[in-house]
Amino acid sequence: MKIIEIFETMEYSPAPENPALALDWLKEHKSKFGLFINGKWCKAKSGKVFSTDNPASGKKLASISEAGKSDVDSAVRAAKLAFPKWKALSGHERARYLYALARQLQKHSRLFAVLETMDNGKTIRETRDIDIPLVIRHFYHHSGWAQLLESEFPEHMAIGPIGQIIPWNFPLLMLSWKVAPALAAGNTVVLKPAEYTSLTALLFAEICSQVGLPPGVFNLVTGPGQTGSLMVNHSDLKKIAFTGSTDVGRLIREATADTDKKLTLELGGKSPFIIFEDADLDSAIEGLVDAIWFNQGQVCCAGSRLLVQESVAEKVIDRLKRRMAKLRVGDPLDKSMDMGAIIAPIQKERIQNLVDQGKKEGAAIWQWEGKLPQNAEKKGDGCYFPPTLFTNVSPASIIAQTEIFGPVLVSMTFRTTDEAVMLANNSAYGLAASVWSENINQALHVAPKLKAGVVWINCTNQFDASVGFGGYRESGYGREGGHEGMFEYLKPKESGISKNQIRISGAKVKASATTALSLDRTAKLYIGGKQARPDSGYSLNVVNADGSLAGEIGDGNRKDIRNAVEAAHKASGWQSSTPHLRAQILYFLAENLETRAVEFKNRITQLTGVTEKQAALEVKTAVSRIFTYAALADKHEGLIHQPPMRGLALALNEPIGVLGLVCPDEAPLLSMLSMLLPAIAMGNSVVLVPSRPFALVATDFYQVLETSDVLSGVVNIVTGDSAKLGTVLAKHDDVAGLWVAGTKTECTEACKLSTGNMKIIWTNNGKQLDWFDNQQSEGREWMRRASQVKNVWIPYGE
Ligand code: NDP
Repeated sequence: MKIIEIFETMEYSPAPENPALALDWLKEHKSKFGLFINGKWCKAKSGKVFSTDNPASGKKLASISEAGKSDVDSAVRAAKLAFPKWKALSGHERARYLYALARQLQKHSRLFAVLETMDNGKTIRETRDIDIPLVIRHFYHHSGWAQLLESEFPEHMAIGPIGQIIPWNFPLLMLSWKVAPALAAGNTVVLKPAEYTSLTALLFAEICSQVGLPPGVFNLVTGPGQTGSLMVNHSDLKKIAFTGSTDVGRLIREATADTDKKLTLELGGKSPFIIFEDADLDSAIEGLVDAIWFNQGQVCCAGSRLLVQESVAEKVIDRLKRRMAKLRVGDPLDKSMDMGAIIAPIQKERIQNLVDQGKKEGAAIWQWEGKLPQNAEKKGDGCYFPPTLFTNVSPASIIAQTEIFGPVLVSMTFRTTDEAVMLANNSAYGLAASVWSENINQALHVAPKLKAGVVWINCTNQFDASVGFGGYRESGYGREGGHEGMFEYLKPKESGISKNQIRISGAKVKASATTALSLDRTAKLYIGGKQARPDSGYSLNVVNADGSLAGEIGDGNRKDIRNAVEAAHKASGWQSSTPHLRAQILYFLAENLETRAVEFKNRITQLTGVTEKQAALEVKTAVSRIFTYAALADKHEGLIHQPPMRGLALALNEPIGVLGLVCPDEAPLLSMLSMLLPAIAMGNSVVLVPSRPFALVATDFYQVLETSDVLSGVVNIVTGDSAKLGTVLAKHDDVAGLWVAGTKTECTEACKLSTGNMKIIWTNNGKQLDWFDNQQSEGREWMRRASQVKNVWIPYGE
């Protein structure tokens, strides 16, 4: 092409990256790779291998060992053996290893970038400028957390050997998000990369050897989903950290339900990209390019649902099409490409099927019309998909609801801010959202209303090691990155049961207890601030420790839970009330409980049979606990992160929503309040199922609630068979979180049954807690449990 032609067309010339070093690295290994276990390379015991191909050419890159059961066992054993020593190192010693990894990654950054592009098909521009620099930043940042671990997290300790399973879309980046915090916190790791993209993890394992990381601290098992499943079911792994699809996340949640494994799930998304009429439209269009065509749209937080204000919709769509026409799709190793190859033919087929579905649903399609590269190896179509836009999309259609995980944008319009928020939240997912408006008040008004773990204002797809990332709802739970992410790799230091807590199991309920009641003392349910008769029309006897009849409680059922959940949702004003107001109301609650201290002391003594002194201590501790949460209500503040950009990320602690609480028998007043208080102090509303034998303590307590200005519907109490009611709460899709302090079987059931909407769950896993012990049963750990962190990114400057 002549210079004058270049000047006129402004076309790019090819700018290929040289893959020689990466090819040499493959050649050095004869394109064959084993597993990395206990600091050594070994073949899979079965001898099985699978191949990894370059999606851009279809050409095989290498043969990789497929880890089976005995290999996973060996890797876990190595991690288990290495754990005590690694944990015992000082924070500074671990920090030095993480720093060495960061430096080594930095020194070989281009090799990592090229290898990642070859294995994944994403453009070199992205691996070189985004993925690998972020990986390095993660190791630097977490070297810092290792150094500061003892001073910053004095109440916490490492968990143990951890299993980590990652997807193919950001192979090395996902590895760093998982490995860096795990090692910094003193855990050891067994990692399984995705079958399509193991190469950079293998190169990373080499780097671990180069920096002298002690054997067994990082172990790598390559293989298919089955290898991951072996890890999930391994009893010696104390936590599973998973990133991948919501379907597999559900399977993992079910498989780990009867274990005490900690679990974090980073799942899929269908994130809204909201453009208000006062947005800088040119910036917003560039933002869209990054939101949906970055990594060919194979991004969990891709801005795949465009919501544009009706008044500017035509203008936006018109400019967007013009911009789309200029996108460059082709060889990912060409530095001037915007989009590379789709990971594999099967993924391309999945995208095509969903696009066909969109057409069938009547949406209008507009596609990039350039020439897609052919498959150099197989001479057929290359594994590329054109940038695609759907307009005239109905919010309920499949393409508006399903994660396409490809370069496909669906657009809808809205008229008012409320409608934008409603459409944005009209998804089972809740990973991220972008809000575009030059009116920062408007954007900051919308951000807290969005059900998403990350909100980008006038920007998109921003990530940093200092800023937590993770979802709401079916996008999973747990955060990766930053201060909030470190807690996912730590557990509270353990303490036993003190003598204050007496093991009580509740008198056997005698259906025929005979003591006559002088007055009718049937305690009703408490729903929406009112006493309500149970739907069943049945009551259950409650018996004192001496076997006499103490009273009757309503036998709540599924419909009562449904009504209670509805009432809890209507109390959303509590969530938006100021922490100061919540604190005042909690102080008032303490005041009113104390006024009735003698009455509660007597009730506890009669029902449970503990001494009066013991019962008085329980009431006194309960009053103090209310004070603690009144104090914490306006002190569990977020953080301001300072990622390396001209801007800030506000880490806001938000309530989860409607929480189900299933309370235990022991210390019935104190245990119930220990669960209830952090939940409501954080702004959640609750449906509380009290202990079956001691439910009268809870029904007495609603009289305290009634006199304490707690808004109607914030606390709903449904008495009855707590195991059965817990099951109903677990299955209820409008309950966002569930805490169960019950038997091992009840906890397992709750975990298994609550996967429908992927509730955030906490259980005591059948182990009794000491409710008198402030360390176990009070404080910030519970506030964290009652909240989820939303990171709002706000760039500044003109
Ligand atoms: P999958 O869930 O299929 O796979 C993720 C990982 O899990 C892979 O390593 C896979 O192995 C492994 N795996 C598959 N089946 C099982 C099983 N039964 N037990 C244990 N492990 C298993 O997801 P994809 O790889 O297809 O990734 C795409 C999905 O990941 C999208 O939904 C995307 O939204 C989500 N994602 C979420 C992110 C987040 O941070 N929230 C980030 C990136 C992606 P193998 O590959 O060998 O089959």
